[in-house]
Amino acid sequence: MEQETFLGPKELGLYINGDWVKGSRDRYFDSINPATGESVGSCPSASPEEVDQAVESAKQAYKVWKHTPLPERAQYLWKAAALFEERKTEIAAMMTCEMGKVLAESLGEVGVVIETCKYMAGEGRRLFGETVASGAPDRQIMMIREPLGVVACITPWNFPVAMAGYKILAALVSGNTVVWKPASEVALSAQLFTDVFHEIGLPGGVLNLITGSGSAVGAHLARHKDVRVISFTGSTEVGIQLSETASRTLKRVSLELGGKNAAIVLKDADLDLAAEAIVKSAFTTTGQRCTAASRVIAEKDIHDELLQKVLGKTKKLKWGNGLEDGVDIGPLVNMQQLLTTEEYIKIAVSEGARIECGGKRASTDKGFYFEPAVLSNVKRDHRAAQEEIFGPVLAFIEADSFDDAIDINNSTEYGLSSSLFTGSLHYAHRGAREIESGLVYINNGTSNAEIGVAFGGTKQSGNGHREVSHHVFDIMTEWKSVYINY
Ligand code: NAD
Repeated sequence: MEQETFLGPKELGLYINGDWVKGSRDRYFDSINPATGESVGSCPSASPEEVDQAVESAKQAYKVWKHTPLPERAQYLWKAAALFEERKTEIAAMMTCEMGKVLAESLGEVGVVIETCKYMAGEGRRLFGETVASGAPDRQIMMIREPLGVVACITPWNFPVAMAGYKILAALVSGNTVVWKPASEVALSAQLFTDVFHEIGLPGGVLNLITGSGSAVGAHLARHKDVRVISFTGSTEVGIQLSETASRTLKRVSLELGGKNAAIVLKDADLDLAAEAIVKSAFTTTGQRCTAASRVIAEKDIHDELLQKVLGKTKKLKWGNGLEDGVDIGPLVNMQQLLTTEEYIKIAVSEGARIECGGKRASTDKGFYFEPAVLSNVKRDHRAAQEEIFGPVLAFIEADSFDDAIDINNSTEYGLSSSLFTGSLHYAHRGAREIESGLVYINNGTSNAEIGVAFGGTKQSGNGHREVSHHVFDIMTEWKSVYINY
């Protein structure tokens, strides 16, 4: 892409009660482009008072928003979808500059937001209630879904706008108001997302944006007495902390957390199909997807052949600045992620793994680039097979049989996404039942969520709530039972 088409950040700031607020200059932090190490722009770190103001404005706006007819609330989402379409390139370029994913992926991600706007605008209108047969004469009983109030949305950097869309759009259409705390790495992208709602004239206070560190700004927001729901996507470690905060204050909490996703490949599988899908799921977004495949569990008869096919495709991947044409893999999001990935390679080797390709910093004087790594001779209990690395590292593990493969798949504490490649209907169905993950794909990579399908994990990957489908309303609304004697 031509660099000139990237317009650069507008200095927007925090968004509270329908206004952009600059904050004081001594509390600004920089967003760093991981491809260059240079600043993309700066954002205010919200003070506790500003967080309180954002919650208060959401609380006041709720009084009107919850009574705004649902079709009218949905209209804002339709308008937002149209404006996201217009501002697609601007928002996508900002995401690529802030966190490094290649531009085509960023454009696809804005596309997900547009689809989610349309889906939620339609699905919101289907927030049906129930009527229940009464045991008493002349009595009508109905159960209706009600919004809860102020929803705190706390989101990660790897999907700067899609994860926000999953939460915010569902919260808004069902009548809640929102205070959003995005990851600092992508605060400018969050400003552009919010600016779309500013431009379409969403009433003040219905959506508020506060930026700053998770431990200060995020934690203060999560603890706030007027927040009724915490909707969080991020690491399992922070998710557990938020779960504790929520339990002390009786807030609802929805947690979408980490993963250690596997592609199981049986001996009867189409190995070319499997290799293609594995490389895509392992290295897209430089392995920084919650659903990225980080383990291949291959039946021993086809292990070596599959490894060679995966290696052939991995070695062809081109790394570079995600704004440039022809680049497959951008940099890692920051130096910390680069160091963590390097550390895991060392740990894996010390445990007996072999580096088949990559596994080191890419030769460049700037940017956080790391050559995608394929490891073999990894055992099920190795740390590289158990812990989420969140980088471009794919570990091959040999399995004796279908049962052994399922056992290895289920041996981690996570349960987000798994693939099974097989030509057998029998094993396809058994895999779908026996794999312990919220998402199971047969003959497909681990990373391929569709709008309208429940998204979320089990075990340490989440607390059982689901996004993107209508099941998200189980977190964003609560039931009220109304008895009418007539
Ligand atoms: P993270 O947990 O470090 O941060 C996520 C968000 O929480 C950020 O906005 C951060 O500022 C905030 N935060 C951090 N500490 C906080 C605290 N004490 N109180 C309140 N907020 C706090 O995660 P990350 O590094 O931004 O994202 C990567 C992680 O997200 C990975 O583990 C990945 O698997 C996970 N993820 C999960 C899904 C999913 O749907 N399951 C999707 C994307 C990413």
